[in-house]
Amino acid sequence: MNIVVDGENIQTEKTFPVYNPINQEWLASVPDAGEDEAKRAVEAAHRAFHNWKHTTADERSVFLQRWFQLIEDHTDELAEVMTREQGKPLKEARGEIGYANSYISWFAEEAKRIYGQTIPASKPDKRILIQKQPVGVVAAITPWNFPAAMITRKVAPAIAAGCTVLIKPAEQTPLTALRLVELAHEAGAPPGLINILTGDAETISNVWMSDSRVTKLSFTGSTEVGKLLMKKSADTMKRISLELGGQAPFIVLPDADLDKAVAGAIASKFRNAGQTCICSNRFFVHESIVDTFTEKLKAAVEALKVGDGMDPETDIGPLIDQGAYEKVIKHMEDAVDNGAEIVTGGAGDPSEGSFFIQPTILKNVTDSMLCMNEETFGPLVPIASFSDESSAIERANDTPFGLAAYLFTENISKALTLSEKLDYGIVGLNDGSPSAAQAPFGGFKESGMGREGGPQGIEEYLETKYISLGV
Ligand code: ADP
Repeated sequence: MNIVVDGENIQTEKTFPVYNPINQEWLASVPDAGEDEAKRAVEAAHRAFHNWKHTTADERSVFLQRWFQLIEDHTDELAEVMTREQGKPLKEARGEIGYANSYISWFAEEAKRIYGQTIPASKPDKRILIQKQPVGVVAAITPWNFPAAMITRKVAPAIAAGCTVLIKPAEQTPLTALRLVELAHEAGAPPGLINILTGDAETISNVWMSDSRVTKLSFTGSTEVGKLLMKKSADTMKRISLELGGQAPFIVLPDADLDKAVAGAIASKFRNAGQTCICSNRFFVHESIVDTFTEKLKAAVEALKVGDGMDPETDIGPLIDQGAYEKVIKHMEDAVDNGAEIVTGGAGDPSEGSFFIQPTILKNVTDSMLCMNEETFGPLVPIASFSDESSAIERANDTPFGLAAYLFTENISKALTLSEKLDYGIVGLNDGSPSAAQAPFGGFKESGMGREGGPQGIEEYLETKYISLGV
């Protein structure tokens, strides 16, 4: 497949391979772009910005609607590409295409609602006018766990706001991204509006981060790389949005509806084999119900089918690579060595280059274990218990991260007051899958800054201009 710069399909001499995580089968080779392509992309996006920023909201909206329709028409094809390169089950991949596209339709509408303000001045001969303007050229660097949604969540609001975009998708999953950008050009994207490069992340991002024409960075990925890019953005004072790691607590109070809590645990933990930044990572269950909850969850977990994502029966695919596999095994072994007990699962299968892990529940987990202190990013449920809810909240907040937290209770006062006490950007209250295009997604503390989705999502791509008018 080709990268796209200034509306042109480009091949490079050097390429790199993309493999299927299920068996390491070669899927495709993609361009290994370097500094030259990265610079050309900036020039193209910068040129295109001077036209795109003058388009009307309706024009931008119509383009996004056309792109939406093409993606919808190609859902099956895109989902298959995604399952092959990423490993998630086909039904989840189809779900992701719909979810990714919901950001395009949402921002196609939000483009029309970039409202300004007039504010009463303190002097009769003055008027205060507030306008919103697009921030400029946006660099979007995305991870492998949502090969489509992480692209549209950034590109759709940027385009709706009047910005132009440079995309660097994850090296493990570039094929879905490249196809999405092809469809954007079929939908009528003008040259330079959306540029996409595959290649060495550091080489490409160094060019983008040091160029003052790139005025915004939107990154989703590890906290480590997020911090690095934040530092690199400082010299040119880029606006930044960062969606980084999580350490999501999942708290079940004694009055919770346990069936709802189990359904929420399955939804929040096992999506994408546990490889999402809002996956529940640490379970705190009240001591009076911990055994019942664990038994019910065990039955639900044992019904999950692990296998090749192309099989329609599969619920859980492989982990993305060896490093991901080894981290989960390490967390399991550390917990067992320190006194945790395996309730179900507890093994991996690295045979023939694939990285499957059985969905696993551990009980008698304590807060000092590795799995309670690092993001596992795999299908592991570590269950600890608590006796009073204030200590549960304190333990839940005892982390540098603050992306998503889950709370299950049928008591409305506790639901509200405890949600308020959780230091997290997202609270799933009796809800294991809170992500939605209409809602602001983002974290507190070291989970990042900025919000994606919702009315807030487009603000990230807008500057505020104050015009002081003397009359
Ligand atoms: P993960 O651990 O989930 O792979 P990363 O933060 O490593 O998360 O990757 C997320 C995105 O950041 C990918 O597109 C990757 O290529 C890119 N990336 C990785 N390292 C760097 C870097 N040093 N500079 C810029 N981008 C990077």
